[in-house]
Parts: sequence; C-alpha cells; structure tokens
Amino acid sequence: MVNDSIRKGLTNDTSSLRGLSLLAYSQLSRYDSPSYYKLCAISRAAGILAARKKSIRRGYASKTPYSVKPQLISCYGFKIENRSLRIPVSRRKRFRIPLTNHTLAVISQTGVTVRSFTLTPHSLSLSIAREPPEIECIHTVGVDRNLRNLTAGNDEWVSCYDLSETVRIVRTTGRIVASFKRDDARLRRLVSSKYGERRRDRTSQILHNTTKTIVAKAVERREAIVLEDIRGIRSLYRRGNWQGRKHRDKMNAWSFSQAQKQIEYKARWTGLPVIRLSKRETRGSSLTCPRCGERLQGDKRLERKLWCEKCRMVMDRDRVAAINLARRGRVRFARSRPPINEAQGGAVEAVKGNPTPTVIPGVDAPKLTYPPIS
Ligand SMILES: [Zn+2]
Repeated sequence: MVNDSIRKGLTNDTSSLRGLSLLAYSQLSRYDSPSYYKLCAISRAAGILAARKKSIRRGYASKTPYSVKPQLISCYGFKIENRSLRIPVSRRKRFRIPLTNHTLAVISQTGVTVRSFTLTPHSLSLSIAREPPEIECIHTVGVDRNLRNLTAGNDEWVSCYDLSETVRIVRTTGRIVASFKRDDARLRRLVSSKYGERRRDRTSQILHNTTKTIVAKAVERREAIVLEDIRGIRSLYRRGNWQGRKHRDKMNAWSFSQAQKQIEYKARWTGLPVIRLSKRETRGSSLTCPRCGERLQGDKRLERKLWCEKCRMVMDRDRVAAINLARRGRVRFARSRPPINEAQGGAVEAVKGNPTPTVIPGVDAPKLTYPPIS
C-alpha cells in the first residue's frame, strides 16, 4: 500500500498528505485491510516523498523511493487490555500480542499515552507521549558548553564535567582513517564509515551520561536550565579565519548541538523548564566578572583563566560563563512570573559599582592573590 501510494504521488507530483490521500485512497480499496492501515500507509508514503523532495532541493541524487521493509503502522484502532496489545486485522476481529512486564510498567506510568504501534516481522514498537507536570523551579542553573567540558552552575555551586575523552576519541579515529594509504576509494569509504560510526557511538555515550547527570541534578535542586544560543558557531571556524587547519577541524568536530538537544529533550521529559538565551542576552557572558561586572582580562599565561582587576581574583572562564548564564536566565525567569519574595525577585546582574557578595566557587585558593597583569 505504501509503494502504491508512492507511485501515485510520483506520477502526479504531489507529496502533501492531503493531496496524496485524495489521490491514493480510492486506489487502495482493492486491498482487503482495515482502513486504519490505509491511512497510515498514505501518511508514510507522504513522509518518504517529502524526504525525497528535500534531498532533490538540496542537490543530492535520489533514486525512485521504494519501501522495502514490511511493517504495519497504525495510530488508530488498537487497544491495550489484559496485558496485551490488540490490533485490528479485519472487521470485528483483533489479533492479540502479549506485552512484556517492562513495556507494561512504562505505559502504565501517569501521564503516558500510547500513540501508535509499529509491527515488523521481528519487533513491535509502541510510540508513547508523555505530558509531565512542569516542575516549579526556585532557581536557575547555567550550562556552558565547551570543547573539553560542560560546566553547570550558579551562584551557589559549580560543577565541571570533563569531556576531553571525546576530543581524544575524535583524534584517534581521525588518525586511523588517515593512516589508510591504499588508493581505493571504495575501501576508504568503508573504513571511514566504520570508524565514523565507532566515534559517534563512543562520544555520544559520554555525552549522554553527562547530560543525564546535569538534568537529574537540576531536577533535584529544582533549578531551571539556562542554555546559550550558539547557532552560527560553524561560521566562526572557516577557512581564512586565521585559525589553522588543525584547530578548525577540532572545533568543527565538536558535537555542541548534540549536547543541547540531549539536555533539552531530557529536561522536557521530566517537565523541567529550559531557558534559551538569545545571542544578545549572552553577549560577553564568559568575559564579565560575576562579582563586580568588570570586564575580565585574559592572558596567555593563564590558560582558560581570567583575571578581574577590581576584585584582584583569578577565575575560571567556564565557571564564570556558567554563573553568568544562570544569572541572566534568572532575570528572564523573574520577568515571566511574579516574584514570590524578595530573595527570588532580587536576581540582578552584577553591574559596575554595585558589588554583590557572591562567593565564586572553583577559584584556586592560592591564586587569589595573583599579581595583576600589566
Ligand atoms: Zn570583579
């Protein structure tokens, strides 16, 4: 049915769900199947055609699409009763598939609804939706994403999650692929795709662990997550920007949006609010002193450390960024809902001449009296 609909769509040059339903539905009447499946087949065909249209628009070569894998999808007409899924097979007749204990435990959670099922020769998947109640947050936590770490924190605590292992993995796989010297494009592609997959799996595992911890901690402390908008970062590392190929390759291999996606969906799944700050709102967030609002000074001798002339303090760049993001997010947070008490409403950013008694955690104690940099 899917392939019939695809063919119909290709000959009539339509890929919209509406257009395809009008064209293909009558044609599918020759199939002896409940109409639920016909609708879902048309919807799947529309999806395949839309994907093809997109690749053509982007200039990728595309073959005539064809659905190969046999699968049965429906978002209507099924029931879950007596610890099993009952799907319609013909008029008044249902086929029963028993469900495992794990599946039953997941779908019986509060707020979970089963939206559709997909049946293949070897597997059954249920797609579920969840509407979690939003967590009432009392504070915010800023998450600063860097090449070698993810730093989460606010005025009270900061923790830094090391990601330098991902950089090492990327470097190693790159070296392995580069060591392939034989003049054989086909084998080269095979080798690089194999190591590309391996790299993806290993780095995403590390990232998943980290983002999971960050979200779990934020839920525990009831803190809304504040993220920085780093769209357009790729254009920072292009040819002709005075960076050198090695540095450019390293920065472009960075999976920054993956971290963002993971944090966002994990937070949404638990009902934790996420605040995305715009470019304008985050300007200079890693260069402003969280204590006095002065612009921080960098120095070659201080790697990723910054110096505040006024407070006479050395601070960690990533930690400063996390604290500032938390503050700026908090300003937005306080605007969107009326403050309950003074402490909650008093989220003011440090400005010049208005020192706030903030303890900066993570500053190396012996370096507190670092000599000023001239
Ligand atoms: Zn300062």
